[in-house]
Amino acid sequence: MSGGGQALSDLLLYPCLQLVSYTELSEHTFRAPQWIYFQRKEAISNTQKWVNASSSPKISIDFELTQEAYKSKDNLELLRSLVVFKLCSYDLLVDKNKELMDISKFLLGKKAFEQFMKMTFYGQFVAGEDHKSIKSLIQKNRAFGVGSVLDYSVEEDLTQEDAVTKEMDSCVSATEKEGMSKEKQYKAHQQFGDRRGGVTGARTYFYSDEAKCDQHMETFLKCIKASGGSSVDGFSAIKMTALGRPQFLLQFSEVLVKWKRFFSFLAAQQGRDGMEALEQRLELQPLQVHRTHRVGETIDRLDWNSLIDDRIKISDLLVVPNLETGQLEPLLNKFTEEEEKQMKRMLQRLDVLANHAEEHSVRLMVDAEQTYFQPAISTLTVEMQRIYNRGRPVIFNTYQCYLKEAYDIVTMDVELSRREGWFFGAKLVRGAYMYQERSRAEEIGYEDPINPDYETTNMMYHKCLDYILDEIVLNRNANVMVASHNEDTVKHTLRRMNELGLTPTENKVYFGQLLGMCDQISFPLGQAGFPVYKYVPYGPVNEVIPYLSRRAQENRGFMKGSQRERELLWKELKRRLASGQVFYRPQPEPGL
Ligand SMILES: Cc1cc2nc3c(=O)[nH]c(=O)nc-3n(C[C@H](O)[C@H](O)[C@H](O)COP(=O)(O)OP(=O)(O)OC[C@H]3O[C@@H](n4cnc5c(N)ncnc54)[C@H](O)[C@@H]3O)c2cc1C
Repeated sequence: MSGGGQALSDLLLYPCLQLVSYTELSEHTFRAPQWIYFQRKEAISNTQKWVNASSSPKISIDFELTQEAYKSKDNLELLRSLVVFKLCSYDLLVDKNKELMDISKFLLGKKAFEQFMKMTFYGQFVAGEDHKSIKSLIQKNRAFGVGSVLDYSVEEDLTQEDAVTKEMDSCVSATEKEGMSKEKQYKAHQQFGDRRGGVTGARTYFYSDEAKCDQHMETFLKCIKASGGSSVDGFSAIKMTALGRPQFLLQFSEVLVKWKRFFSFLAAQQGRDGMEALEQRLELQPLQVHRTHRVGETIDRLDWNSLIDDRIKISDLLVVPNLETGQLEPLLNKFTEEEEKQMKRMLQRLDVLANHAEEHSVRLMVDAEQTYFQPAISTLTVEMQRIYNRGRPVIFNTYQCYLKEAYDIVTMDVELSRREGWFFGAKLVRGAYMYQERSRAEEIGYEDPINPDYETTNMMYHKCLDYILDEIVLNRNANVMVASHNEDTVKHTLRRMNELGLTPTENKVYFGQLLGMCDQISFPLGQAGFPVYKYVPYGPVNEVIPYLSRRAQENRGFMKGSQRERELLWKELKRRLASGQVFYRPQPEPGL
């Protein structure tokens, strides 16, 4: 273990710890940074007082001003948006969208169908077929102050049966015996094998083989390159499940969660349960955990280099503490040689992508996925941040605020970045897998990881966001993307930024929305000088149908955001027609 005085909290952030000897810890108490809370509070309140007293201008944006919001759209584009959102308001059309698209393709023929889609749904939500054809849209949005996060959106159109087969094959080790004591949550279940069920907000990848994962990596590499080429401060998004065998993510997640539980168990024994993660203090003396075996003398804890090193076996890293004996035990007996290689390759692909992003000055966002993968995804992303975010924020993690434990995760990661001096980068979302998570938890029989209601998720979002904004004030190394279509959340961010004296030009707080949605939020923000980005999907018409299908679901008529968007579009179209702007041509403002 490097540094005998390592705090227990640090160890628990890196819990593949057969190599960590607690007996080497010289500190008897993990000093919880409670003083940090007081210092934070005081520093923030002093900043607020100073900002209130200063005469620096406060930014306010009127999201009702449709003239500003739709400045970048001609009348045909407004009309197309209105038609598309109107079509999404018919439940029957949305529910049967796949069948209807199949029938249309059959009746119209491929070419006419593609043309029809380009004039409607595809034109609304997708930028073009490849990274060349999307350039003009990217440039146009940029001219109106809105950047792009490129997102290649081709998806395999698998049957449910094929999806389940692929999932079960790729999530269970060939050496895994029936009846091994595995956590129910971190085990593949046949009935939830099709991970697309109940998910409208995100794309799903299934593992086929290594060649397919290499193909995904190549696509991400192209996106990174194109993002670097299209602007000086580009973003690109990736999903870890596209890059390898998901079995590793499941099993690593289980290890992480078992370590966390071990920490809670110890905290409870010492009467310190029920506190926020950062506030828990533990006496270290009674926490002697015995090492059972070690992999190599040179490695003293999980780190990125040891993970991607071919000579180190992943199965040797996946050990968990036995609560009764204090012994570290392997999670599984062994993986096969091939599985070991597959898991290594996933991590190596990630490393290639991070390197490429750094070289092209592109920021890489790692999307958040289901809770049975997410502890691993999030921890691996932090590991990359520790390497790549030394000079500037290259890697961004995603935090899902519908999770009960979101605040604890955010504060722990912020604290770690502060202690180690790297740039914290976060994308904050509410979360895209709610229905699937809830029904899986209920059916399989574990605690629902999602907040009990929408209000609690909103409060969680704002609490996490406030913490990061405060961190930006205290330590300019933090960065956050507010990835939401929720107008109240955007207004909350602007209000808080005004109170804290954070300006848009500092480039610390970004906003993110999907292409074709919420232009009334994105464009006024961009024109006011805020860094705002659209997730820009692209891909051939016939291969982005699943993506379009999900957009139709997300814009159903009963959705509050969708209704409001229709009202504003209609208002602007009427205003233009009444003022004689029948052939309105978008003109970007100079200087944007
Ligand atoms: C740029 C961008 C990037 C994204 N990246 C990711 C990603 O990496 N991973 C990911 O998971 N999602 C991602 N999303 C999707 C996101 O998580 C949301 O699903 C989506 O944006 C809707 O949330 P909202 O804040 O925009 O709107 P809102 O309409 O205000 O919020 C809807 C969300 O609130 C939550 N919610 C709704 N009802 C309840 C309830 N009863 N109890 C508890 N919570 C509830 C759910 O998360 C639901 O999706 C991304 C979205 C954007 C715009």
